Amino acid sequence: MIWFLMVSVALWSFGALMKAPRSVRWAMIALLYGAIALALFVLPAGNPLAATIGVAPGEWLLLGGFAAIVLSYRQGLTWLKSRARPAHASAQTGTFSTTELDRYARHIMLREVGGPGQKKLKNARVLVVGAGGLGAPALQYLAAAGVGTIGVIDDDVVDNSNLQRQVIHTDARIGMPKVFSAEVAMLAQNPHITVRPYHRRLNESCAEILDDYDIVLDGCDNFDTRYLVNRLAVAAGKPLIAAALTQWEGQISLYDAAAGTPCYQCVFPKAPAADLVPSCAEAGVIGPLPGVIGAMMALEAVKAITGAGETLRSRLMIYDALYADTRIINAKPRTDCPVCGG
Ligand SMILES: [Zn+2]
Repeated sequence: MIWFLMVSVALWSFGALMKAPRSVRWAMIALLYGAIALALFVLPAGNPLAATIGVAPGEWLLLGGFAAIVLSYRQGLTWLKSRARPAHASAQTGTFSTTELDRYARHIMLREVGGPGQKKLKNARVLVVGAGGLGAPALQYLAAAGVGTIGVIDDDVVDNSNLQRQVIHTDARIGMPKVFSAEVAMLAQNPHITVRPYHRRLNESCAEILDDYDIVLDGCDNFDTRYLVNRLAVAAGKPLIAAALTQWEGQISLYDAAAGTPCYQCVFPKAPAADLVPSCAEAGVIGPLPGVIGAMMALEAVKAITGAGETLRSRLMIYDALYADTRIINAKPRTDCPVCGG
């Protein structure tokens, strides 16, 4: 008996050393068991080999039967688990295909997202203003996360000088309108979503576009558009995730006046003088910074849609990339705000 166990362990170790699959190693042990069983039944009683094994043929069969029951119980459990998982997920999510379930599996297994959260993402409509530094990672991660409908508005075309940070665009697409370049990249990443490109500059007449969306992300590069997006979002009663960058510093918050939290203009009542805050083109910006803050915009959107955790409502996060420092500033709505006050 001890002899059989020792040979089995040796066989298993040798198999592992040779990188043989577990099934092959089990088969070798089963073969050894079978050979011993045959020997016990064929050899006459009192034979030296039978004496070495030290087990009666009946006992040997009983041992094999017990092992078979344990193994088939384990196999049965594994099979039941593999069947139960997709059935459970599809019951929660309804219309997801098997490919989508597999694609979003790492979301679905998160307690805070799960099947219902992924369904909310699929049904969500998010509008992104700007397909530049902040828009690029935000759009990519929204698409990958499975946000069902993503609108993107921008009047610019891809320029060589954008490619140091705007990772959604490529060298081959220089000269192409950014919204179409972003659309190509998003659908290449995830064909299970709808992308709506708006190749135009955001202006007052774009108000009705916001009605088609649940959340607005503002990654534009100038104060005029930033204040305009805020006015349109407050008028439409939509939450706004707005971010901005200068050189090594980024800031981001979720403004939701309809929920009683401050709007962008409550926190920034007046645009600074143009010469005080130079644009990225004038002052420069470190390449990975838009990636950090843009990905945070997508993350805040995912949290707002699924209801996971705490969003940046009423809180402004400032990230100083040069010294790897993060600060949070609490913000309150202003009763004298010309956009949301009164
Ligand atoms: Zn306000």
